[in-house]
Amino acid sequence: MNGNNRQKRYIAWAALALLLCLSAGCKQAPGEALGTAEKAQEVRSAEKKQDSSDLEVHFIDVGQGDATLILCGGHAMLIDAGDNDKGTLVQSYLRSQAVENLDYVIGTHPDADHIGGLDVVLYKFDCETVILPDIDSDTKTYEDVLAAMSEKDYAVTRPVVGQTYALGDAEFTIVAPNRDYGNDKNDWSVGVLVQNGENRFLFTGDAGEDAEKDMLANGIDLSADVYKVAHHGSDTGTSEAFLEAVAPDWAVISVGEDNSYGHPDAQVLNELRSAGVSVFRTDEQGTIVAVSDGIEITWSCSPSDSWKAGERGGAAPQSAAEDVVHITDSGSKYHAAGCRYLGQSDREVTLAEAKERGLEPCGACHPPQ
Ligand SMILES: [Zn+2]
Ligand SMILES: [Zn+2]
Repeated sequence: MNGNNRQKRYIAWAALALLLCLSAGCKQAPGEALGTAEKAQEVRSAEKKQDSSDLEVHFIDVGQGDATLILCGGHAMLIDAGDNDKGTLVQSYLRSQAVENLDYVIGTHPDADHIGGLDVVLYKFDCETVILPDIDSDTKTYEDVLAAMSEKDYAVTRPVVGQTYALGDAEFTIVAPNRDYGNDKNDWSVGVLVQNGENRFLFTGDAGEDAEKDMLANGIDLSADVYKVAHHGSDTGTSEAFLEAVAPDWAVISVGEDNSYGHPDAQVLNELRSAGVSVFRTDEQGTIVAVSDGIEITWSCSPSDSWKAGERGGAAPQSAAEDVVHITDSGSKYHAAGCRYLGQSDREVTLAEAKERGLEPCGACHPPQ
């Protein structure tokens, strides 16, 4: 091949490349124009969001567990992240809401249905302030959270009752835990009151009656428009006195369909009903979104009117995987109900969850395997 030929071939290739480039450019032009328009729209709505004083509260349907995303003026906060198998779901929900990083993450207490999915969130999003109560747990789930914390070099912020944080134009105040609750993880739940203008939302994790008494005694105004019902509607929380102090218009119960715990409890539903509270629930309505403009609150769906209580053992047919076993905070075994090795920290989990945690059947009580 002489130099001249090489040059001709080069020119031919260059011409072809230019042609391809042009035709590709032609094809792409309308799409690109649309893309730019869309982008401009996005920027505009983001700007609109930025200077709007709207606060959005997303009660994400994570089955049996809690995960609440709160957005205000481009700022984001997550309270809990569902069970171990829900981390990816929470991650994609956050992405669907254009969340890129989180100003605040609260793991209310070390139970799996609250912090199970938290490790995924901590890894996938940059989190500024991570609030965890000062109680340890030696479960694999909790260790995963701590591993994610150290991997991302996050420091733990301990909740201090009365402390207030800004979230855009809104703010939230820590209302619990008020003291040391020993091994009672639920009572250690971080409680927060979110305020946007005149609108107030109260979250108390799985707090029980003792923790509620202490909140009532600490002098903070607990009254709220929206009350996220403690402990998935269990009768361990939402005492009459507490409900009277909160006096909500609306309540949201984050609870799994046909869960084996009997959540929500009939008595709690009756209390809410007789207090004239409208109830939303994730087992019936999926993810529920409340939008506060500082004066009024609007909802993504109408309240539930089923007032249907959960059944212990669940209404779903029980398979071996749904057998309930008992575990303790620190033991390496799982047990049948009433086993003599079950201490103060006796807790029900499914057999599947016990196995997932790497626990072995107790040799003394012969639980299901
Ligand atoms: Zn829970
Ligand atoms: Zn709990």
